[in-house]
Order: sequence, then C-alpha cells, then structure tokens
Amino acid sequence: MPNRHSAQLRASPTRRPSGHSTFPRLTSTVPARAAPGRGIGSSAPTTGCFDFSCQGFSGGLILDSLRVAGRVSRRDVYGTTMRIDLPAPLAGNASIDLELVWQFRVPAQGAGRMGHDGPLYEIAQWYPRVAVYDDVRGWNHEPYIGAGEFYLEYGSFDVALTVPASYVVAATGRLGNPEQVLTATQRSRLTAARRSAASVAIITKDEAGHVERTRPATQGTLTWHFTADSVRDFAFAAGPNFRWDASGYDGILIETLYRASADKWEEAIRMAREAIKYFSEQWYRYPYSHATTVEGPIEGMEYPMLTFVPNSPTREDQQWALSHEFGHEWFPMIVGSNERLYPWMDEGFNTFIDLAGAAKYFAGTPYGDSIEVHPLHLYSDHAKPGDEQPLIEKPVEVRDLFWGGYQKPALMMQMLRYEVLGKDRFDRAFREYIRTWAFKHPTPADFLRLMRDESGMELDWFWRDWIFTTARLDQAVDSVSTEGGASVIHLENRGTMVMPTELAITFADGTKSTVGLPVEMWNLGARFNYRVPERKRVQRVEVDPRHALPDVDRGNNVWPR
Ligand SMILES: [Zn+2]
Repeated sequence: MPNRHSAQLRASPTRRPSGHSTFPRLTSTVPARAAPGRGIGSSAPTTGCFDFSCQGFSGGLILDSLRVAGRVSRRDVYGTTMRIDLPAPLAGNASIDLELVWQFRVPAQGAGRMGHDGPLYEIAQWYPRVAVYDDVRGWNHEPYIGAGEFYLEYGSFDVALTVPASYVVAATGRLGNPEQVLTATQRSRLTAARRSAASVAIITKDEAGHVERTRPATQGTLTWHFTADSVRDFAFAAGPNFRWDASGYDGILIETLYRASADKWEEAIRMAREAIKYFSEQWYRYPYSHATTVEGPIEGMEYPMLTFVPNSPTREDQQWALSHEFGHEWFPMIVGSNERLYPWMDEGFNTFIDLAGAAKYFAGTPYGDSIEVHPLHLYSDHAKPGDEQPLIEKPVEVRDLFWGGYQKPALMMQMLRYEVLGKDRFDRAFREYIRTWAFKHPTPADFLRLMRDESGMELDWFWRDWIFTTARLDQAVDSVSTEGGASVIHLENRGTMVMPTELAITFADGTKSTVGLPVEMWNLGARFNYRVPERKRVQRVEVDPRHALPDVDRGNNVWPR
C-alpha cells in the first residue's frame, strides 16, 4: 500500500470525508483510534472508515461447494476464515486435493486493494486460499481486516481467464498463449521491448481503444492463460482501452498499461524500469519474467509481478507511488515476512529502499537532494511520548501506522546504515538477509539475528530502542572543565535511547576537530567524559553537528549554551 508519503510533503494531509463507509457493522465495533483509514498520513484519529481507501467495501466471496479428496466436506466458517477438517492427518510432503466452487462479485471499491472503474477491472483478493502454517506460530489464521495486510504461502498458479475479446489482460505469471490473445504486431513489439532500454509502444496512443487494430478477434471472448511459480498471490487487470508501453532490463520485461486520461504515465515506463533496475542492482535481482504496473482507481497496491497505481498529481508523487509498489516485489513478495503482524518488515523496509531510489531518480533537484532526510524531519511530529507505539505492535492496534509501519522503520534502517554500521557493512548484511530469506517466512528474530551475524556487531541495544520500545534520543553537552591542563567534555544522555555520536570541537585558536564516539560510551551510564587530546582551550562543543540523529532537544547539544 502507499504510505501517504506525498500527503506528508504538503503541509496539510489530504483526507477524504469520513462517514460514508459501507462498513457500519465493523466501524461501530472498532474504536475510532484503531482505524487508520484514509488518515494513514495523519497522526490525527480517523473515524468512520475502516479500510485504507475509505470507499467502503461490498463483496466477499460465496462458496458454492467444497470437496476434499473428491468428497463433499463439512466446513465451518468464522468471519473471513474457514476451517476444514481433513479425513485423516496429512503426512509430511504428502498432498491432498481441495476443490472449491465459488462466486465473487467485483465491488467498485475493494477496500483500496482492488476494484473497477467503468470497464477497467483490477482484480485481487478474489479466491479462497490456505492459511500459512509455519514452524513458529503454527496456523496463521488471523481474519482479514482492513489495516492488516496478508501473510501468504508460496506456490504455483495455473490460471485461465476468459474475458471479452476487446479486453487486454495483465496478470501475475507468464502468458502461455500469446499467439491466441495478441496480434502478430504486438508479439514482435514485445520481443523488441524485452531487449530495449528505451520504451516500445505495444499499443500506441492512436491504437488504444480501437478493437480492430489491437485485438486478434473483435467478437466473443478470448481466454488468457497464465502460469506462475514461487509467488504468494495471483492478481490481474483487464481493460478495453489501454495504452501499453514496455521496455527491458536484463531480460526482464517491464510494462505499463494506462488509460488516455493518465497524463503522468508517458514517463511511467522510465520510472518503472529505473525502479526495477535500481532495486535489482542494489539489493537482489528481480526474479520474475515481467514487472507490470496498471493505472487505475486503486491508489496503490502490490501483487507478484503486478501493481495497481493511480495517475498522480505530480511527477514526484507518480515516481513515488510506482516505485513504492514495485519495491513491494522485494518486501513481501520475495522476502515473505508476515505483513499481518509486522508492517515494518515490508512497508518499512520498502520505504527505506524507496527513499534512496527517489533520491537517485531525482538527483540534482531540490526534491531528490532532500528526500532521504524526510523521515528524520517527521520525527518530532510523530514520535510523541504517550502516543507513539513500538514498531513491534500489531498494525490493527497502531494509531499512527504511517509512522510506525512506514517512516519510523525507514529511519531506523537509515540510522543503522549511515550512523551505526556504515554503508558497506550494512549493505552486505541486508543483501544477505534478502538472499537468505527469499521465498521464505522470516520472523523479526530471524532478521535481527542475521543482521548481527553478517555485520559482526551486537545490535541488541539498537533493536531494543527502535523496535521494542519508544525510546527517544537526547544527547547533551553538560559542561566543559579543565583537569591537569587538559579539557574534559562532560556528555550526558538525557533520553532513553542510546546512539553513537559525533563531537565537533572548536578551539580558542580557531582550529577544529571532529571526533566519532562509539555507542559503548553509554555502557557505564548516562554520563561520559571525553578527555580532549589536544592541549588547547576549548571554545565551543557540539554533539551531532551534522544533525543526523533524531535528537529531541537540540538546545542542549551545544556548549556554551
Ligand atoms: Zn506499501
């Protein structure tokens, strides 16, 4: 999901009016403060809507029949979950067939995660699926509710979609029958696009919406056949009037499908390609055959190989939304953490990699050159005592999910990368985390252990402050004294968080010195005396002179006051 990042860049976050939700049963029983709703970008409580879009939700699927190993089975439905008892226990590596017949009426707005706009359909969360059974928690059968996302098992999909012949379909998975559903011209353009860094139009502006020029048949239906391996979900989009651009990176086909009304989308193919390329080169190579994004009514949602992204008001917003949803291909599509419980491990890690990606894409502009500092600047507005919650809390219990799920974990990762481990040491460890846990289900402890082992640094102090508590940092220069001709700087840790820091010293003769102090200086308590090696009179001292740390009171960082 998007993180309302752009709303935060403006002074007043936009929020649609509440109160028109079609979810009255749920909203009446859920405390308003627990509902992030559209106000995810705001620390203010939101009332009246339970889902991310605030557009409500009418739908759900209707199960007509269930067969287990060929026999009609009893089922027990509890809200959005169903229990099936097998006729006999299933042995390890054994399999059993579950056969379900169900109906699914497509709602206009599916809680911000799917829906349709006129003839354009963006379809997801549309089929029954098996809960994850893992070796930490056993069955993960949390019911689906708006603020929590999804914890899904990896698998293979073989899907046939029959749609009107005038429709073009984009989906998770490799298209198995292009000769039946695409024209010869489109197939040859796609072959060229896969090898082209520049955009190739598969359906041009002039061709879009003209059935006779874009479809191999103009009447009846066509069936599109897709297969996918090592994916945790399957989604698709279908529309009759797409423009379709494509390009390639390292054999990966990158595609954008959009309507003529989407004025920011001619650049979208470049934004999409840069995102896939950057994340691949920096962290882990994109493992699937294509990366496709479809413009439509959904304000930003990720699925394997496919994202739904709206047309945005500015280029910066557009790049952010496109690259954020594609960043989810790494977290949680490749690294399958439990989104339902730990949004910081997907939304947070994703926001962290997106910030550096946006800085790269817009390098040399005021936006590009300042975007990475954005979470640090949000700190004072969101890290409020008594209001802030530890990252480890479940998302449905978090009041300020924008902060706790997205921006604070991104800031945590930046602090670890730039201020604690250094870029090379961090990058090697984080790459190893992705590689080790690709297509698996890491828990928080797995991440913490791997970062410690790969960096060679004990980090419990860091995780305690950033993930398990709401500790705040307030480092101070208390005073400077002279002992036996040497200057001694008396530092104090007045907050509850510990961090390493820098000390900038200006001497009376005008010379300067900068000293890096390790976090171990706080091992013996909240006071640390730094003995200045230069035998010169100290005129001025400042802790954290680069203003790199989230220090809540900078007034005490400088001596003399
Ligand atoms: Zn997201």
